[in-house]
Amino acid sequence: MPTKTILGTNAIILMFGSVGLAQRDFSGVTIKTTHVAGNIYMLEGSGGNIGVSAGEDGILIVDDQFAPLADKIRAALAEINKGDLQFVLNTHWHGDHVGGNVEFGREASIIAHTNVRTRLSTVQKLFDRTVEPQPKHGLPVITFDDALSIHFNGEEIHLLHFPHGHTDGDCIVFFKKSNVIHMGDHHFAGMYPFVDLDHGGDVVGMARNVKAVIDKAPPDVKIIPGHGPLSTLDDLKNYHRMLTDTTAFVRKRMDEGKTVEQIKAEGLPSEWDAWGKGFIKPGKWIDTIYKSLTEPK
Ligand SMILES: [Zn+2]
Repeated sequence: MPTKTILGTNAIILMFGSVGLAQRDFSGVTIKTTHVAGNIYMLEGSGGNIGVSAGEDGILIVDDQFAPLADKIRAALAEINKGDLQFVLNTHWHGDHVGGNVEFGREASIIAHTNVRTRLSTVQKLFDRTVEPQPKHGLPVITFDDALSIHFNGEEIHLLHFPHGHTDGDCIVFFKKSNVIHMGDHHFAGMYPFVDLDHGGDVVGMARNVKAVIDKAPPDVKIIPGHGPLSTLDDLKNYHRMLTDTTAFVRKRMDEGKTVEQIKAEGLPSEWDAWGKGFIKPGKWIDTIYKSLTEPK
């Protein structure tokens, strides 16, 4: 993602909310297509990475970035496969993953966890900003609570809900034959993640969910993260170690009676310095862990 969008709170709002899109210029964004494995591709533009299944049944996408990018995304999909877009899966409700729903919902069926539809149907607050509900055609038409399978392009595409990780409505998508996993925002590759504590997210829950994926993933699986580059199982294991390591670090100091300001002054172990160069800086990550460990569940 461009460095310019990752610097401040304002930029974070632009990343995740629909507020401010009118002022945001998407004209310079290009969509980069990467073949991942089997039927699966990854599209990078602005916002969450898009997973694509393309084959004889047509096209299915996982997340859809921002509405102003819809034509560019359509053009990138047409380069892969001339078939029709049949399904759009939403990994969670954040605007940088579902912003294109208003466009693609007119031509395809949107599928998501029940809580995603609930949040997209009602006014939400994110970073003290108001996120307006989606119009009817931008809402998921098929919802599920625990798991759902789509049999498409010669394989089972399995959506599994993981509770209280990044939000309270995340699913992770397993392309079983192609051996690809789309993690949604349970995985920020090589950077501290955003955990949406105000909408059911939980730092410990995120680590638990990531571990559950690691335990069931084949060793040669390809991982599409919500943000960051295409990853391997080793990358995901390292990310999990960062989550548990930094959480244990903060917890230990909390147990010693340190305030969040004291923990921030000390800083996280230098091993993780490179992870603080994304849009969640080290101080914000410490705040998130501290708050997540403090707040009653
Ligand atoms: Zn998100």
